[in-house]
Amino acid sequence: MNNEIIPLGEVINSPSPHFSGKFNNIFHQNNYDHYRSAINDTLDLVGKFLHRNDKPFSGIEAKKMKTMVQHIDLNRKLSSYEELLSEVDDIYVKHATAFHLPQYVAHLNCPIVIPALAGEILVSAINSSQDTYDQSAGGTFMERKLIDWTAEKLGYNPDESDGVFTAGGSQSNLMGLVMMRDCFSQKKLNHNIKLDGLPSEAGRFRIFISDKAHFSNQKNASIMGLGEKSIVKVPTDKRFRMDITLLKKYMKREILMGNIPIGIIATAGTTDFGNIDPLEDIANIAEQHNIWMHVDAAYGCALLLSDKYRHLLNGIERADSVTIDYHKSFFQPISSSAFIVKNKRELRILKHHADYLNPEEMDEEEIPAQINKSIIQSTRRFDALKLWFTLRMMGQEQLAEYTDRVIDLTKDIAEMITEDPQFELLSDTDLSVLVFRYMRSDIKDLNALNQFIKMKLFYSGEILVASTKVDGNLYLKFTFLNPITTTEDVHQILNKIKSHGEDFSTDK
Ligand SMILES: *Cc1c(COP(=O)(O)O)cnc(C)c1O
Repeated sequence: MNNEIIPLGEVINSPSPHFSGKFNNIFHQNNYDHYRSAINDTLDLVGKFLHRNDKPFSGIEAKKMKTMVQHIDLNRKLSSYEELLSEVDDIYVKHATAFHLPQYVAHLNCPIVIPALAGEILVSAINSSQDTYDQSAGGTFMERKLIDWTAEKLGYNPDESDGVFTAGGSQSNLMGLVMMRDCFSQKKLNHNIKLDGLPSEAGRFRIFISDKAHFSNQKNASIMGLGEKSIVKVPTDKRFRMDITLLKKYMKREILMGNIPIGIIATAGTTDFGNIDPLEDIANIAEQHNIWMHVDAAYGCALLLSDKYRHLLNGIERADSVTIDYHKSFFQPISSSAFIVKNKRELRILKHHADYLNPEEMDEEEIPAQINKSIIQSTRRFDALKLWFTLRMMGQEQLAEYTDRVIDLTKDIAEMITEDPQFELLSDTDLSVLVFRYMRSDIKDLNALNQFIKMKLFYSGEILVASTKVDGNLYLKFTFLNPITTTEDVHQILNKIKSHGEDFSTDK
């Protein structure tokens, strides 16, 4: 191949030599026509998914779904994409949950934006790996630029801070916890955990989170060898935010018992209530004790771009590290997340030299390697490209507008629910979650009533809501993430809830 520049249209339209037979499935210039037609056929199925769906779920039961999948013989290949797509339609696409419909108000699954999906095509086809420069080239610097951009939104100095894209918020939280533990051990105990394993004091390490923080924190503490006992759950106030008086009290108590506080994890946007812990107060306490503060902003990071609501995150710039989930709050397809640390020197704790990838003598600025910052992934997708496509096509203003709309909608609906005597709203929200239940004066067992409503909705597939338990009581939960959803849509959802609620009878 010479390097002559050929206009893109000509490349695409020129008949290319074909690899026939056994090599025709390899992604290669000789098979571009095959690639294109396979993608086009698959796109038609995406079209079907979009056009025939007017409800978020088919309502199929797991047992039936399992039988359909089990029935397939993987040892027998199919003869065409037509057959393949029809099979996958039956066992997957027809029943897949449609997050983009306003009737999907269950979990933290955002609708996704088209520029990101266009980017996804390049991510999968070119298949760069972000671990080292020689496997990603421009990808390394584009990822770094998006990390710097995010760091700046956090109020960090991008020259001082650093970070890396991760598979999700749970992994980012794990990185925060590892940094917290290892920096504490290094600075206060002069003990290098990376080389020498846990110090004898580790059994007494304590990490403070609110009792509404994400469960990944416990899981992370246990895989880190600290045990779930290392996690101290501080009760929340009336708005389900970490109670600062109790945080101080619990820290004092742990110290009196001979335990060692090593850090605090604040949640900026809890999964269940969308409320933000008092970040400034927590930063003050972390500072007084000279310990690590991590902010889990997997959900609340949406506010970073919003002029209207950014102030709710004030204090986040004082955290040592932050979890960002673009696939929760930036309308990105899964996976797209990041871990960001205020002081890049501290990230060195994670660095490991492999002679074949990033040998010690390699000059980091000349030949950069994102793998130095990654905790468990080596080969890693160029997920950052999707966010790049999104920002460059939509601009941060449109993303912010989507977020503002969703939060404004939530405020309207909160009012609607509060004013309706048949509903009880448990708490207001900083973001876009509402926890509430349906009530009927003749029914004592409100848990059974609300569980009945939830299951009715689920198996009809018309509306998907989530539920959560608070003090042993079952509540329904709306998570709004879709800027297309209107007050009228939710009004109809509430009416449906009422009508199922009216059908509930105790003798069923
Ligand atoms: C969803 C969530 C996580 C976990 O993120 P994943 O991307 O699902 O791994 C962590 N923290 C909070 C507050 C979340 O809502």
